[in-house]
Amino acid sequence: MTGPDQAGTEQAPPERLPRPVLLTVDDDPSVSRAVARDLRRQYGEGYRIVRAESGPDAIEALKELRRRGEQVAVLLADYRMPHMNGIEFLEQAMDLFPSARRALLTAYADTEAAIQAINVVDVDHYLLKPWSPPEEKLYPVVDTLIELWRATGQAPIRETKVIGHRWSRPSFEVRDFLARNAVPYRWYPADDPEGERLLAACDAGPDDIPLVVPADGTVLRCPTTAQLAASVGLSTTPTGDFYDVLIIGGGPAGLGAAVYGASEGLRTVLVERQATGGQAGQSSRIENYLGFPDGVSGGQLTDRARRQAVKFGAEILTARCAVALEAEGPKRVVRFADGGAIGAHTVVLATGVSYRELDAEGAERLTGRGVFYGSAATEALACAGKHVVIVGGANSAGQAAVFLAAHAARVTLVVRGPDLERSMSQYLISQVRALKEIEVRACTRVLRCDGDTHLERVTLVDDADGSCEEIEAEHLFVFIGATPPTEWLPAEVHRDESGFVLTGPDLLRGGTPPPGWPVPREPYLLESSVPGVFVAGDVRSQSVKRVASAVGEGALVVTLVHRYLEGR
Ligand SMILES: Cc1cc2nc3c(=O)[nH]c(=O)nc-3n(C[C@H](O)[C@H](O)[C@H](O)COP(=O)(O)OP(=O)(O)OC[C@H]3O[C@@H](n4cnc5c(N)ncnc54)[C@H](O)[C@@H]3O)c2cc1C
Repeated sequence: MTGPDQAGTEQAPPERLPRPVLLTVDDDPSVSRAVARDLRRQYGEGYRIVRAESGPDAIEALKELRRRGEQVAVLLADYRMPHMNGIEFLEQAMDLFPSARRALLTAYADTEAAIQAINVVDVDHYLLKPWSPPEEKLYPVVDTLIELWRATGQAPIRETKVIGHRWSRPSFEVRDFLARNAVPYRWYPADDPEGERLLAACDAGPDDIPLVVPADGTVLRCPTTAQLAASVGLSTTPTGDFYDVLIIGGGPAGLGAAVYGASEGLRTVLVERQATGGQAGQSSRIENYLGFPDGVSGGQLTDRARRQAVKFGAEILTARCAVALEAEGPKRVVRFADGGAIGAHTVVLATGVSYRELDAEGAERLTGRGVFYGSAATEALACAGKHVVIVGGANSAGQAAVFLAAHAARVTLVVRGPDLERSMSQYLISQVRALKEIEVRACTRVLRCDGDTHLERVTLVDDADGSCEEIEAEHLFVFIGATPPTEWLPAEVHRDESGFVLTGPDLLRGGTPPPGWPVPREPYLLESSVPGVFVAGDVRSQSVKRVASAVGEGALVVTLVHRYLEGR
């Protein structure tokens, strides 16, 4: 290994923590030096650049970094190297630094190999050589890799502190909100010595819990979601008075509409009540989204989409819940639970669906205290070595079971129907069956949930013979279908009997638009019964409940918005 930034030679300045490492390995010394130079120019302030000229040397450097307890954020490896190619290197490097993000440098002719590498070692990106100018080709990729790495929680950041009770719904909601919005935080149970010290330092009593202390040291006592969002730097207020398109809901459909709307020059604002990502953000692994042969976590996919929308100039507001929609002549106005309102030429409803509540005795009382809707990721670590129960027979439940089987000692999947075949994709059924930790209980329902301060026992009833069984479990995750949150919409926005919003041809009766339809044309394909109010994704009647179709509708809806704006 060569170069001024060799591992083992450069000492961290005594007054600061060692900077995380960006490591680059290329057997061509001139390329290796050039990559290191470009990286140092852009990232030298916050990161230490380590370079190596062979795979084995780079592995040695990583071992030394590991021994010294340092952090490695990003690995950039050339594909074509003698002794150990880039893929072999990244495979070994993953054992030493599993959280480091990985990119492969390839020549055009090796693109095929790079694509294979995505399957073999879960490479995050591949970069074609030459990468010049770095501002266009190298830095955006490295920026993404660094952001991904920071999101793993390994980065030495001054994170937000949350002090709360382990089994309390408000404390869970704070943690869940931060996690879903990818805000790093550290959790301190209020009865742990460190939690007690922090409470004392903030002069906080039991009524102040959950207590949140963001990085700037301010103290938030039982914060509302809006206070929490603002304190951790999530935007909650619009910068403009009026927009071309106002999107309600930050799931794949809303994010798709935001990316296309903003990139096509529309003044675009997206408003989300909780966290961008929607249902997809809760998916531990989406395996059927085009272009990700090895699957992608929903959080990662939607985080990229959010950044893409922001890059194109879309405004994203969090912690704002739409509660009313009004049409004032050509103007559409959406009002929010906090009293504010935003006006726009057009509105896109992309509010998806919300979990249906479990109809079992005790479930409501213990929600957030052992009974969770979705949220498997937030609670996964707490399930280590435990027996968890998952309710539901569709893909979301299957994914959660596979995900939690890696943490929990035992997973019981409670399915109302006689088998999984009629509700779950075959690839997931195979994964579920292959894991010995998962037990599938068909024809079974949850009868009751018991526990004092938190869930302790779950009673299951077998519908085939009526027998009951009580099992000890502190975690029950519910994935039993969903309903559209559309009750806040005015009657003028027509819905089907289940509450999903009708659009385009579904609004026609005998080829005629619905009564009160005010314009001399039929509703556009994704337009609701109120002109200029469009619908995309799961909330639309007859929609396909998939990430890809939600994203597709988000893109399509923008074309229809253009058509509407031009035709006014
Ligand atoms: C655990 C899980 C795993 C899944 N796995 C897969 C998979 O592998 N493959 C696949 O194709 N599909 C999968 N799905 C389904 C897929 O995630 C959905 O089809 C997709 O997310 C729908 O996108 P959407 O944007 O229409 O709605 P959603 O993702 O539901 O997003 C709607 C958003 O609107 C917000 N919102 C609602 N009401 C308001 C309001 N009044 N004001 C402001 N904001 C509001 C919500 O908070 C939410 O963020 C999965 C779903 C779940 C739950």
